[in-house]
Amino acid sequence: MAKAVAKKKVFCTVCPTWEIKNPDRCSNTLKKRSKTLYFCTKRCKERYTKSPEKFA
Ligand SMILES: [Zn+2]
Repeated sequence: MAKAVAKKKVFCTVCPTWEIKNPDRCSNTLKKRSKTLYFCTKRCKERYTKSPEKFA
């Protein structure tokens, strides 16, 4: 049986109330400097890409 790994919760950068359940399998990500941003949908990623300053 695989050990449960404690991970910190990851939320969508555009809608912070939306938890990303499987960040490892999330395909809507964006590398920014040393951290990775996660998005619940492709649309959220597009919104961020268009105006990142809104979500900084
Ligand atoms: Zn989102």
